Amino acid sequence: MSAGLTAPKGTFDTLPPDSARFLAVRDTLTAPLRRAGYGYVETPVFEETAVFSRGVGESTDVVTKEMYTFADRGGRSLTLRPELTAGLMRAFIEHRLHDGALPVKLWTVGSAFRYERPQAGRYRHFTQVDMEALGTDDPALDAEVVALGVQGFRDLGLTDFELLLTSLGDATCRPQYRELLVAYLDKLDLDEETRRRAAINPLRVLDDKRPEVQAQLDDAPLMVDHLSDTTRAHYDAVRQHLTDLGVPWTEAPRLVRGLDYYTKTTFEFVHSGLGAQSAIGGGGRYDGLSAALGGPDVSGIGYAVGVDRTLLAVQAEGLDIGATAGVQAFVVPLGAEAKRLAVRLVGQLRQAGVAADTVYGDRGLKGAMKAADRSGATHVVVVGERDLAEGVGQLKDMRTGEQHAVPVGELFQRLRESVGE
Ligand code: AMP
Repeated sequence: MSAGLTAPKGTFDTLPPDSARFLAVRDTLTAPLRRAGYGYVETPVFEETAVFSRGVGESTDVVTKEMYTFADRGGRSLTLRPELTAGLMRAFIEHRLHDGALPVKLWTVGSAFRYERPQAGRYRHFTQVDMEALGTDDPALDAEVVALGVQGFRDLGLTDFELLLTSLGDATCRPQYRELLVAYLDKLDLDEETRRRAAINPLRVLDDKRPEVQAQLDDAPLMVDHLSDTTRAHYDAVRQHLTDLGVPWTEAPRLVRGLDYYTKTTFEFVHSGLGAQSAIGGGGRYDGLSAALGGPDVSGIGYAVGVDRTLLAVQAEGLDIGATAGVQAFVVPLGAEAKRLAVRLVGQLRQAGVAADTVYGDRGLKGAMKAADRSGATHVVVVGERDLAEGVGQLKDMRTGEQHAVPVGELFQRLRESVGE
């Protein structure tokens, strides 16, 4: 290997033993989805660029500044996915999943790529769990989606997180509100770039974090104060269901999220232990997204949760998760003949579903016992030359230190039973 090669700026490697925690977080976040009847989908990590420019929105930072876009050798413009929703929607439309029973409930997990300025919790390559419930705008479904996100965090043992919730209205009330907001923004002192963004989606200005912009927004009109009767009723029903589900929330009337197509229910999960990058997940209803991607006019709601940031939240709360990855049984052979027995025994155990390992290379008894210790195994078999001559192996329970001789022919069975205790 040539010297000096490192992971690209803004990316990192996840190595054992920490990787066990990453897997535990990823799997815990997806378990509630599997239990609620969501089906797994896998889509490519790159898509035609239009999937994102249309599916994420032309006014967003993601599309204007952060996409990894390249021409492939056939001259097609492709983009590494900056988020997972647009690709899922593309697949939903392409495979006409809307022709089946509704809602269609889907989830996926995988890499996302954004050319962002790296900092703690913000990377250029990260992992998202993404879920979507498509084809129905029943407020009970909104509540289900939000509650499943909360469940994943709760199952990890997290407590210092908050659900921010609002409604962004829909086509019946957003245009009127938009006019009010545009009129308000017109009177403010904003730079050209902000004005350009405001022209595409004025709501995004509300979300501008710069103090000089925020200072001018104190009296800005808010969508929640201008909802139509139907969208207000929808939002009220969502909140009623959330109350029934025991999910608390904080009203966040200035919350605006990445997609330009969000409508009605919109939410974000924030964690107090993460500093500036406090969002561990977010989502909402995007009743115009399918149509924006050339599909039928179906509604949808979903969320994306950042696995890396959730892992940081888990660490910030000092939770002990997935730390005990390792094997259950470990075999220490001393001598060539014992080695054959060890390889066979480990093979048999693994076939039987027992996590097992042995030492490789010439480690000597001391080094081998150290490896056995580090492996996390509760049961260790040591087979020395004298043991073999007597037809036994020494089975040691690492938790109690108890050790006794077991006939070679019974080792497999005894180990299998012991690790199950
Ligand atoms: P977004 O699609 O921007 O709402 O992102 C959804 C979630 O993905 C966020 O709440 C974060 O947890 C995570 N996320 C977004 N961007 C990054 C990034 N650059 N690095 C790490 N996690 C991210």
